[in-house]
Amino acid sequence: MKLQGTMKVNKNGHLEIGGCDTVELAKRFGTPLYVIDEALFRQNCRAYYRAFTEEHGVEVIYASKTLSNLAVCHMVEQEGLGLDVVSGGELYTAATARFPMGRVYFHGNNKSTEELRLALEYKVGRIVVDNFYELERLNELAGEAQTRAKIILRLSPGVEAHTHEYIKTGQIDSKFGLVIENGSAMAGVKYCLELPHIELKGFHCHIGSQIFELDSYAHAAETMMDFIHTVYRETDYLAEELNLGGGLGIYYFNGDQPRPVKEYADVMMRALQERAASYDLPVPRVIVEPGRSISGPAGSTLYTVGAIKDIPGIRKYVAVDGGMGDNPRPALYQSKYEAYIANRMLEEVEEKVSIAGKCCESGDMLIWDIELPAPQAGDLLVVASTGAYNYSMSMNYNRLPRPAMVLVSEGKADVIVKREDYTDLIRNDVIPERLRSSVMKLASSR
Ligand SMILES: *Cc1c(COP(=O)(O)O)cnc(C)c1O
Repeated sequence: MKLQGTMKVNKNGHLEIGGCDTVELAKRFGTPLYVIDEALFRQNCRAYYRAFTEEHGVEVIYASKTLSNLAVCHMVEQEGLGLDVVSGGELYTAATARFPMGRVYFHGNNKSTEELRLALEYKVGRIVVDNFYELERLNELAGEAQTRAKIILRLSPGVEAHTHEYIKTGQIDSKFGLVIENGSAMAGVKYCLELPHIELKGFHCHIGSQIFELDSYAHAAETMMDFIHTVYRETDYLAEELNLGGGLGIYYFNGDQPRPVKEYADVMMRALQERAASYDLPVPRVIVEPGRSISGPAGSTLYTVGAIKDIPGIRKYVAVDGGMGDNPRPALYQSKYEAYIANRMLEEVEEKVSIAGKCCESGDMLIWDIELPAPQAGDLLVVASTGAYNYSMSMNYNRLPRPAMVLVSEGKADVIVKREDYTDLIRNDVIPERLRSSVMKLASSR
């Protein structure tokens, strides 16, 4: 058992998070319920601020795709971090939270015209441009708006990080960025330098997610510095900024060994400084974009146990009141999680079970083969490390309303995202008039 952040077991044998008894939280707010540990979220922000900003002058921007809502934007702003957004929706959320737009970076491999216009209108700090098509259109739109768009060009450095196929991003065969190795990155730079409404500030790379090997970051930093040097030699353009992405791995289950943020910062910055010195070039202004390692460990999900199905000699299925709708990661990436019976934390582990969701999909399994005290209907199951890529990836499959999210701290719990209800599910449904009338006709012809 690995209790993260403010988690502890109280005298009733219940799990507490942020000084709140999870059994009480379930009673008060219902299940499934996302619980965000405010102290841990802020502590994770601060670890980055200290290791990167204070030690190395690096700007840290939180990847809001992992978990974005108004309260989260407020906390990120208060902790002195910037924000990475990847869509008009995340940008709108940031703007509505009055997040300082100069500290917003706008990502995405296929931004719409409307999204690009919005980014220019809001005057976001940087637009991270992914491809030639986007460059051309942004140049036009910035021209129409009589401005110059400050951009960073996303590159694919060809660094392979050891992680799941779907969350690798820095290799050559990727939908993201311009490839360095085949010359398309250099062509992109030259194109930027010709465009009148584009102001190229530097380069970006993001090598993947859930990364434990810090050498991958050192390697990426060196490859990017090599490119900066090559560009400088060939075009006389010297990049001022270098955004090295995010991706630091977190603890999900037994065996995961996250690396300290300070080590990550030191390894990456040392590699970059040495490489810059070898070229006699200044170290660019560096930006990093952590997401999962800030929000992930700070979130847990509470579920109520319902039907239990024992198939003798095969497996015991323990079904909960949520599943792939609120956490699609196990179905999407075979992600593994740890869970506990939150109302019986002190009891011995007794049997191996598998946790099933309630969606009509055999693949809707949250956890295969986990050892727990024999679960009973009505028990409260808590799945840990669900702060990142859970709510933000959630869906209404089977017309299940999305759960609520509460922020807990020092014994206080506040709803930061309300639970959806059935009316939310039909809010956008429309019955065309002709369907209404044909219903009437059928009815009257009978
Ligand atoms: C997803 C993403 C991040 C954050 O990655 P984490 O693994 O959550 O830290 C940062 N930058 C870019 C461009 C991304 O796509």
